[in-house]
Amino acid sequence: MSATPAVYNRNNPYMASIKENRLLNKAGSEKDTRHIVVDTAGHVPYHVGDSLGVIPRNVPAVVADLIGKLKLDPETPVPAANNTTVTLKEALSSQYILNRASKKFVKGIVDKIPAGEKKEEIAALIANEPALDEYVFSRDYVDVLNDCAGVELNVTELLGLVNKVAPRLYSIASSSVVYPNEVHLTVAVVKYESHGRPKMGIASGYLGYHSEAILTPVYTQPTRHFHLPALDKNIIMVGPGTGIAPFRAFLQERKATGATGKNWLYFGDQRRATDYLYEEELEGAVKEGSLHQLDLAFSRDQAEKIYVQTRMMEKSAEMWKWIQEGAYFYVCGDAKRMARDVHQALIEIAKKEGGLSQEAAENYINVTFTKEEKRYLKDVY
Ligand SMILES: Cc1cc2nc3c(=O)[nH]c(=O)nc-3n(C[C@H](O)[C@H](O)[C@H](O)COP(=O)(O)OP(=O)(O)OC[C@H]3O[C@@H](n4cnc5c(N)ncnc54)[C@H](O)[C@@H]3O)c2cc1C
Repeated sequence: MSATPAVYNRNNPYMASIKENRLLNKAGSEKDTRHIVVDTAGHVPYHVGDSLGVIPRNVPAVVADLIGKLKLDPETPVPAANNTTVTLKEALSSQYILNRASKKFVKGIVDKIPAGEKKEEIAALIANEPALDEYVFSRDYVDVLNDCAGVELNVTELLGLVNKVAPRLYSIASSSVVYPNEVHLTVAVVKYESHGRPKMGIASGYLGYHSEAILTPVYTQPTRHFHLPALDKNIIMVGPGTGIAPFRAFLQERKATGATGKNWLYFGDQRRATDYLYEEELEGAVKEGSLHQLDLAFSRDQAEKIYVQTRMMEKSAEMWKWIQEGAYFYVCGDAKRMARDVHQALIEIAKKEGGLSQEAAENYINVTFTKEEKRYLKDVY
């Protein structure tokens, strides 16, 4: 009798090993983007368009800094699941978010700040929620403890004041038809400096700088809408930066399943010489004919900034023709600026090439194309 396959999810993640961590940017880039290959041994089924949920760990230096700052013993046993214990070091590594201070931490330590100006300043901050939000935005716990000299906490007090870890999502960059035992990701490591100390995003920093010996809890987060159309449909994909991830998966899947529709990709980043992610693969796909059109926009290679939406406008007639002939339009990546600008470009194209008024163009893109025909699909974050 065969066992029922385990179903892994947020509450019951699969413990995967990470078998590859490759820097995609070249020397001299301002970015740190990684190609990550997660070895799932086939236990984590997925479809193109899905995301992988990753439950991150804090990198060792962040844990050591906090334990050192509070002069605690890293080996102190602390309660864990099923009446077991783990060391303080392990609990802080895997169960809490240490790269950004919680508001409850600031509220919880105010009584421990020695009487004086700082105590009054922090008490005033706690009474002003927006100011408290701003205070914790750029500080981790060590920054707060540096700012509030003289605060001492024991292990139980500390664990009661730090936020629990939460998963982060990453668009899957591989096709399970081609890679049933692996999940590929394209991860931009978030790095910055604040209060004189270097910082990283918890999950992207972990994925970029993890220890290979440690297993990583992961699960599939299925997409509700970001699916490929029928094999004979044409697709247009706009994916600058890490937005390329699902489109790398789409291209693999379309090739493996013998799709007859054409594939048109827009990719962009800062500089061609250092930031052309997956350059060889994309150029190879063009050469072999599985990627029919590739348009590139490198914003910093010339005096004026060129973005994917600039390139879309350059081929507005052809894009309108594809859309009129039934092509599906996908956009992935930065929600704040890029996706908004791409949306505006689509409206401009409908006006320019379709001869529509502003109102009719907006109605066509927002209602007909998006809601009724469901041919305009977004995976933006
Ligand atoms: C559906 C979906 C798909 C996604 N796909 C991808 C993908 O394919 N690739 C990818 O890389 N990401 C993707 N993301 C984003 C990803 O989930 C994470 O949000 C991202 O990696 C940052 O998480 P983190 O844990 O590293 O950073 P966190 O620890 O959550 O936070 C770090 C944040 O702190 C901020 N910050 C705080 N203080 C400062 C300061 N002083 N200066 C600057 N910044 C500061 C930064 O803005 C940064 O965003 C996706 C998100 C969603 C929702």
